[in-house]
Amino acid sequence: MPRKFHVFATSDIGEALDVLRQRGYELEVYAKSEAPPQALIIEKVKSGIDGLITTLRDQIDAEVFEAGKGHLKVVAQMAVGFDNINRADANRYKIPFTHTADVLTEATAEFAFFMMGALARRMWTAEHLTRENKWSYWHPYLPFLGDEVTGKTVAIIGTGRIGLAMIKKCNGFDMNILCYDPAYENRDYIAGIQKVMDVRYQNGIQRNKTSIRYVRFEEALKQGDFVSVHVPLLRAEESDTPTYHLFNERTLRMMKPSAYLINTSRGPVVDENALAKALTERWIAGAAIDVFEKEPLPPGSPLLDPKLEDRCRLFPHFASGANITRLSPDPGKGMAGRCVQGLIDVLEKNYGGDVTKMPYVVNKEAFQ
Ligand code: NAD
Repeated sequence: MPRKFHVFATSDIGEALDVLRQRGYELEVYAKSEAPPQALIIEKVKSGIDGLITTLRDQIDAEVFEAGKGHLKVVAQMAVGFDNINRADANRYKIPFTHTADVLTEATAEFAFFMMGALARRMWTAEHLTRENKWSYWHPYLPFLGDEVTGKTVAIIGTGRIGLAMIKKCNGFDMNILCYDPAYENRDYIAGIQKVMDVRYQNGIQRNKTSIRYVRFEEALKQGDFVSVHVPLLRAEESDTPTYHLFNERTLRMMKPSAYLINTSRGPVVDENALAKALTERWIAGAAIDVFEKEPLPPGSPLLDPKLEDRCRLFPHFASGANITRLSPDPGKGMAGRCVQGLIDVLEKNYGGDVTKMPYVVNKEAFQ
């Protein structure tokens, strides 16, 4: 039995926390539904905790690491994205932080796909018509029609874990696929998908021949009927190819007027004022957005303009929001389980205490 570790969780992540209780950890969980105030996080860290469990709502930077000096050993984040954690600060203070990659890959990709379908086939508007008793006749094209997804071209921006999973789902709908990623081109995966496309075509499973290839960003934007975004949020100081406001007036104008934008990545990847303008002036046909520059979405957001209601679907950062994905205590299945396992690995010195060998630690570079 390890010595009694003290852990503060900034939110209740469910029964996975019992794993820590059963191991004799002293655990304090912030009980309210909203995020704890920053001052409280600092106070708890200062109190001498060994581990901090966080979500994307918490800002983890030098002030937090300074408060934990001498005793804080790990920050375990329940998310794959970690743009709320200042990596340079974590490295300076030599605090490893973990994330929960992979277990939410399929859930996020399928949600992106469903958003795309719901948007293009106008499911929300159609259901409102029915519920509000405005469905007064069947007509060939009135009051509106949607666009099919099957057989169209999708541009996948970012071919990491979730982008590749999205590709797999789009292939099931006979789509042509354009990929863009400045840092990671998975040529083997793309070749595998092309083989599947060819077999489906040769066996009469899909009517038309389809293709998948890597292209330049501009080409992806210009040719995509759908543009689906799967990048991490990277600011100018963090990357040579930053993603902050990757979608802005200039790049949104490159898309076809008939095209749809799908964003399940991070809010600041899209300039929301530019997007609202693009939707209002119909530079693009529509957008389905799960993540926002400011979350929760403020009531004054231009995206909430009722005039855009028919072409703008909005979701509450919900792409990973499935029961098992979020809460399973099994680290192979759930974000909560993986988060807890990442914390245990560091505190209990699994992998011989070698942080660089721990699968869920992100900032391994600080320990090499
Ligand atoms: P990943 O690291 O496996 O993939 C990201 C890919 O983006 C990488 O291949 C990287 O090379 C690429 N990339 C980096 N800069 C780029 C640029 N300028 N242009 C195009 N591509 C670029 O990450 P992942 O597991 O696929 O997750 C992607 C992101 O999705 C996460 O960072 C997170 O922010 C977001 N996410 C959101 C939800 C949600 O609930 N909405 C759920 C999970 C993940």
